[in-house]
Amino acid sequence: MPSTPRTWPLLAVLVVLAVPGGDAERDAALKTITAKECAVRVETLAGPEMQGRGTPSAGLEKAARYVEEELAACGLEPAGPEGSYRLPYQLYCAVADPQGKAQWTDAAGAVQALELGTDFVPVPGSRPGAVRGVPVFAGYAIDASKEEWRDFASGKARGKLVFAFTREPRADDPKLKRFDGAEPTEASTFASKLRAVAEAGGIGLVLVPDPALDLDPGATVPDLVPLPLPRNFSAARLGQLAGWPDVPVISMSRRAAEAIFATDLGKHHADLDKRLRPKLLQAPEGVVVEYDAGLVEQEVPYFNLAARIRGSSGSGAVLILGAHLDHVGWNHGDDAGRMRIHPGADDNASGSAVLLEVAQACAALPPPQDDVLFLWFTGEERGLLGSRAYCEEPLYPHTQALAMLNMDMVARNDPRLLNVGGLWDRPEWARFLRKQARAIRSDLELDFDQGRDLYQRSDHFAFHEHNVPALFFFEGDLNKNEVYHRPGDVAETVDPGKMERIGRLFAATAYALMWEGERP
Ligand SMILES: [Zn+2]
Repeated sequence: MPSTPRTWPLLAVLVVLAVPGGDAERDAALKTITAKECAVRVETLAGPEMQGRGTPSAGLEKAARYVEEELAACGLEPAGPEGSYRLPYQLYCAVADPQGKAQWTDAAGAVQALELGTDFVPVPGSRPGAVRGVPVFAGYAIDASKEEWRDFASGKARGKLVFAFTREPRADDPKLKRFDGAEPTEASTFASKLRAVAEAGGIGLVLVPDPALDLDPGATVPDLVPLPLPRNFSAARLGQLAGWPDVPVISMSRRAAEAIFATDLGKHHADLDKRLRPKLLQAPEGVVVEYDAGLVEQEVPYFNLAARIRGSSGSGAVLILGAHLDHVGWNHGDDAGRMRIHPGADDNASGSAVLLEVAQACAALPPPQDDVLFLWFTGEERGLLGSRAYCEEPLYPHTQALAMLNMDMVARNDPRLLNVGGLWDRPEWARFLRKQARAIRSDLELDFDQGRDLYQRSDHFAFHEHNVPALFFFEGDLNKNEVYHRPGDVAETVDPGKMERIGRLFAATAYALMWEGERP
């Protein structure tokens, strides 16, 4: 049956749509980048399991595994050695001195060894040094008359080795009139506790994680070590910089402390918080605790994540797309030991999530002309450690890199605002980006003027230092982001629509460059 003339135009349209390449191919790929999937990915990466993705940490390890699984699922080629997505690099860190030891003598006179790394860990900031004494458990080690809480009022901590919970009474209770409700007070910092111990005449401080944190009872304060350091820094200088009183501090697991005090510390903690009255616990007669724990510098093997799509030309040219996967974790340094997880939903679960969406969209396309490399960096929050390490040993010579496009914080601020940094001296790139935005009818408002002061502060800058054109995709005006590096940077309040818009422009730019061979 010949077609009737009426159906011919319809067939013609279908034929046009079926032609590979061009706008239709690009637009179909862009459509797979959705607000919904961005939101799910941010929820995952900023979820409680990931514990704020500090470098290095068990939480960041989980985040890395999630990214690896997603990359494998969309069939992207691992760019690391031996079929791995992990590109190794060395993290220069303060780690627990392996000579460190702790033990206690029980009431019967038997010596019980404690295991470094599991039962106890050193606390960065502490002075090193051996200490030996009779232990007392002094609640939260808080001496704050303003809060009507004085763990040392009895004077019985003098000459003793003080154990205490981290944080403060009912730390998560917004209704509590004392201790600023759910906001941590100054009294809850490691430094304040240590000063209180020193003033009370204590000879050591053993920090036991607040049971209200619901950590494994076998866990010490998490993520204290290894602690990445600047290359020209030493572990000893950490202590000098902290300026804490000369009282050695370690963290011990609740389980180990319970053995020493022969009591249920979970119950003791519940009593303290219920009665809201300090109470000093003595260990059984004859119990003595001793420890000597410090830090040393060491290279710790770590990794960035890398996946690639091979181009058909084999020219060796590459486009690099990146985002940092890490955040500040528990932020013990800046948040002074108050032990709150910083989920880093916007910074930078958002960029990592959108990069996964972009990678997935690109993976479904036919091969590009030249290679596309996707990098998820670690150590960014510690000073661009992962990206700088990559740039020292790049997979492609820097002269072969067409550009590096980085997304860092793309999910807050004005829903339609996109700031792209690095274009001040690159008007041709500015025009190129505007052209891509028009081509996909993006309703993003592009701002290429602001953010000069931020340009050195994310991973693209490591590439800029090697003369690679480096573009910084950013939500715009950091001053409007009230949760920047705060525990409030949670997944519930990011803007998935903004991520979709930015992801689509990011991918469209990659498509124009690598699939269509356009150049700025
Ligand atoms: Zn960031």
